[in-house]
Parts: sequence; structure tokens; C-alpha cells
Amino acid sequence: MHGLVRGQNNPRLAMVERLCPGIEFAEGDLLDQSSLIAALETCQPDEVYNLGAISFVGLSFKQASLTGEITGLGVVRMLDAIRTVNSGIRFYQASSSEMFGKVRETPQTESTPFHPRSPYGVAKVYGHYITVNYRESYGMYACSGILFNHESERRGLEFVTRKITNAVAKIKLGLQRELSLGTMTSQRDWGFAGDYVRAMHLMLQQDAPDDYVIATGETHSVEEFCALAFAHVGLDWHDHVVTDAKFMRPAEVDLLIGDAGKARERLGWTTTVTFPELVARMVESDLAAHRAALSQGVAGG
Ligand code: GDP
Repeated sequence: MHGLVRGQNNPRLAMVERLCPGIEFAEGDLLDQSSLIAALETCQPDEVYNLGAISFVGLSFKQASLTGEITGLGVVRMLDAIRTVNSGIRFYQASSSEMFGKVRETPQTESTPFHPRSPYGVAKVYGHYITVNYRESYGMYACSGILFNHESERRGLEFVTRKITNAVAKIKLGLQRELSLGTMTSQRDWGFAGDYVRAMHLMLQQDAPDDYVIATGETHSVEEFCALAFAHVGLDWHDHVVTDAKFMRPAEVDLLIGDAGKARERLGWTTTVTFPELVARMVESDLAAHRAALSQGVAGG
């Protein structure tokens, strides 16, 4: 397994090396076509998983054209690099439920029309269609996985789930008093990232390439996530959560819920972690990290 690393002295490298010992790295950037060709020539992979993106919706509103370059055009650069080096390489594109945006039907399936509500969602729609187009035009084994929100204790602190569980741990340990959030009524179909990675791998092991929705089929509000996370440590979220307009977005995705029937039927894919289990494991992980930092006399993030 190889990872693609961008830039000089990338601070995430140490974290990935710790989580995936033995992984090898190649240098490359989704903005730089020739670097992708060089990386593929060095690594000679059988499969490429393109998870590279500006992936935070909030940031995409502030850096819209950069999001288009990386999250959107980065996909065609990778597909062209594959065609140049070895068109037999199997390709997975990380598409997103954010493409559904202002949803046209509920639940969302592979055939639900897109209506993205952020520069991130718009860029992902381009990535999705260029993957389908290269499959149809050049006969490439290229799949698009339309993954709904997938979370774990490794999630970045900018996303609402981890922001909540990290704050819950700090409040419980007396390191923080309050948690400021934006829209509490948004509903998401949140699953466990480990289950979703298994789905990505399964998509590339089939006889023929195709596109699949990956989701739990349940939806929960940000408020429900908060309620469960605070209750897990014996606290009431009403006592600690405040709203701050700073975290509201110019356009919002109100409700996402996916129908993964096709993936269940054709890939044999199922989830293994329930919503309450997901919340609990994220809170437990943040509690453990902050307790460890406290015992070493270091303030955690
Ligand atoms: P997204 O579904 O990819 O946008 O994932 P996020 O975790 O960033 O956001 C999920 C939902 O939580 C969105 O509707 C956000 O507007 C909402 N939300 C409410 N407060 C916050 C906050 O403080 N941070 C983030 N990231 N999202 C928030």
C-alpha cells in the first residue's frame, strides 16, 4: 500500500505512519498532472483510491475555486494519469452525499438527481460525472462510491461529530465549559468510517465497475448527536451548548438519508456499528486522549 503525500514536510505524514505502519509514500499533488504520473510509475498500483480533496464544506465556501481545482479537476488529472501509465488500474472515486444537497427525493439512491449546496458539493458532482464518463468512454474500471457522512475517532476536529465528542470529553474533565455550534437541526446519515472503507474495497473487487450509495439508512440531527454524546458522560447538552452564527453556512443541506440497497444486494455490504455505538466510541476515544494528556501534564487539542 502506498500513500500520496503532498507538499514539503506534510504534518499529517507522522500521523499516517503511526496509524498504518509499513505504508510507503510517494510524492504527488492533485494539482500537478506530471507528479501523479510519476507516482503511479513508481508505485505500479493495481488499484487507486482517490480520497484526496478539500473535504470540509465550511472551508469550500471560503476557497471555492481551489476546491474546484483539487476536489473536482484533481479527479480528471488522476484518471488521465492512470490512462497514461496503465489503463488497467482500477479506480475508486470518493463521491459524496453532499452532491444530493437540497434533496429531490428521500431516501437518496444512485438515481436521485443532484442539487449540491456548496462549492464542495459542486466539485464532487464534477468528479462523479468525469469518473462515469471515463468508464463509458475508455472502458476503464472506474467506480464512484456515493458515501454518506462517515465518522470515527480519527475524524478532523472541524467536523461537527468530532467537534462535539472532543468538547464533551473536555467538559467532562473540566478543561472546557461551553460548546459553540451552528445549525442544530441539520440531519445526517452518519455511519462508521471503517465500514465504509470496506465498501470502497468491495467496489473494486467486482466483475464490472459500477456506482454505489453507501449509507446506514438512518438519519439523526446534530441535536440528537449532542444529546447522546453528553448523556454518555452523564451530562445534559442543554447546560453546555450555545449557538454561534459564525458556524452557520451560506447554504445548508438540511436532511440526508441514503438507501444502500444496491450495495447490500450486489456487494453483500452491511454496517457493523450502530449510531449510539459510533457516538460512544468517539466520546470514549476523546476521553482517553485527554486523560492521557492530563496525566502527562500536557493540554490536549
Ligand atoms: P458535512 O455534512 O460534510 O457538512 O459535515 P459537518 O460535520 O461539517 O457538518 C454536518 C452538519 O452539522 C452541517 O449541517 C453543519 O452546518 C452542522 N453544524 C452545526 N454546527 C456545526 C459546527 O460547529 N461545525 C460543523 N462542522 N458543522 C456544524
